[in-house]
Amino acid sequence: MSMEGILSRLKETNSKYSMFHAMTEDTDLGDAGFLFSAKDNLTSADMETCAGSKILIGYRPAFDATSISKMREAGGKLIGKCNMDEFGFGTFSYNSGLEIPRNPYDLERACGGSSGGSACAAAVFDSHVSLGVSTGGSICCPASFCGVYGIAPTYGRVSRYGLIDYGNSLDKIGVISADAKDLRKYTHVIAGKDPKDPTSCVQPDFKDTGKKMRSVAVPREGVEGLSKEVETAFKESLESLKSMGLDVEYVEMPSLKYAMPAYYVLATSEASTNLARYVGMRYGQQEGDHSLKFDDYFSYFRSQYFGDEAKRRILLGTYTRMAGFRDRYYAKALKVRQVVIKDYKRVLESHDAVLAPTMPFTAPRFDDISKMSALDSYKADYLTVPANLAGTPHMSVPCGYDKDGMPIGMQFVADHWNEEVLFDIAERWERSFKARRPEVVS
Ligand code: GLN
Repeated sequence: MSMEGILSRLKETNSKYSMFHAMTEDTDLGDAGFLFSAKDNLTSADMETCAGSKILIGYRPAFDATSISKMREAGGKLIGKCNMDEFGFGTFSYNSGLEIPRNPYDLERACGGSSGGSACAAAVFDSHVSLGVSTGGSICCPASFCGVYGIAPTYGRVSRYGLIDYGNSLDKIGVISADAKDLRKYTHVIAGKDPKDPTSCVQPDFKDTGKKMRSVAVPREGVEGLSKEVETAFKESLESLKSMGLDVEYVEMPSLKYAMPAYYVLATSEASTNLARYVGMRYGQQEGDHSLKFDDYFSYFRSQYFGDEAKRRILLGTYTRMAGFRDRYYAKALKVRQVVIKDYKRVLESHDAVLAPTMPFTAPRFDDISKMSALDSYKADYLTVPANLAGTPHMSVPCGYDKDGMPIGMQFVADHWNEEVLFDIAERWERSFKARRPEVVS
C-alpha cells in the first residue's frame, strides 16, 4: 500500500480510537523500514507536541527527542503522536486536555494511562511499535489494559533529552508493542549514553548475554486487593511459568505498602516545579491580555489552560516542599524510596525477578472513571509505582482475559541494568501464551 493509502487508513482508524493527537502529513515513505508512534510528551520537530495539555497547543519543537531521532536513524518513520494524560498525570488517559483514547477491546473503556494512546496504537496496528514514558507505571498500566507488551527500562538507560518532564528522577522512556520481540529490538535502538542528558546510562551499553530468567519472587503484598478475575488469571500464569521450568516463590516485601504515598509526594513535588515554566510566554499558547501585570497574566493563563489534575498536583507538590512541611513529607518520602530500593535488592539477590499482576483490575468504563475520586485513581497504582520509585526495569506481559474479554497483565521487575532477563521471559512467554488480538473497527 502507498503511504497515502496507509495514512488515510490510519486517519480513519484514529477517528474511532483517538490514539493520535497529531499525525504526519508527510506521504514520502523514503526508505523507511518500519512505522512507529510516540507519546506526545516526546518532542518531534515535524509535529505539534502538547503532552496532552491545552497549554501547549501550537507548540512545534525545534528539535527531536533523542529517543525519536534514534528511531528515525534506525529507519523508522514517525506517523503519530499519541494521546495521554496531561503531562502524564493519570492512570486512565482520562485526564487529557485533548482527546481521550479508547480501549481497542471495548470503545467505552479506558486504555490506561498515561501512555494510553501508545498502547492503543500498539494493539490496533499490525507491526507497530510505540514509544511510551513511565513515571509511576505509565507504560505497564496501559500495556496491561490494552493486552500488549510494554517495558520501562532502568532509569537512565534511555536519554530523557527532549522529554517534557513530569518527575525528572522518575521518568523513563520505553517500548510498547504487540510483539514481544520488539521490546529487545527497539530498547536496544533507543538506549545509550547521551551527552545531552547527564543522567543517561552510567552503565556500559547492552550486550546480548543470552541471560535467562530462571526464578521469580511473588510478593504477598502484590497479590492483595485484586479483582477475582485478575487473581485467577495470575495464579494460572504462575502455573504456566512453573511448567516452563521457572522457580516461583512467595516472599515478603513490606515496603511495597508505603511506595504509593511516597511516590505521590515525590512525583507531585517534582511536577509542581516542572510546571512553573508554563506561563504563556515561551511555549504553546500565548493568548491573553498582555497589558495585565505579570502575576495577573500568569494566574489568568494557568487557571485557563491547566486541567484540574495539573492544578491539584501543583497544590500538592508545592505543599509537600514548603518550609515547615518539607521534612515531614518530601524528606520522609525520599527515605521510603531508599527502603523500597533495599527491599528489591534483597529479593533480587536470590531471584531473577519480582512478579505480580500489573493492575488490580481490568480497564474500567469511562462512566465509572468519572465517579472515581483522585485518591481512588492514585490507589490503583499500588502495584506499578514501587518499581518506578526504585528505577528498576519492569515489563508488563498479557496473561489472561476477564469474562468481558478485557486483557489482564502481569509485571516482571528485574534488577537495575538487567533488562536481558525481561526480554528472555517475554519472548518465551509469547510462544506459550495465546494472546487474542482485538477486532479492529474502522
Ligand atoms: N498514574 C501515575 C500518576 O498519575 C503514573 C503516571 C505516569 O507514569 N506518568 O502519576
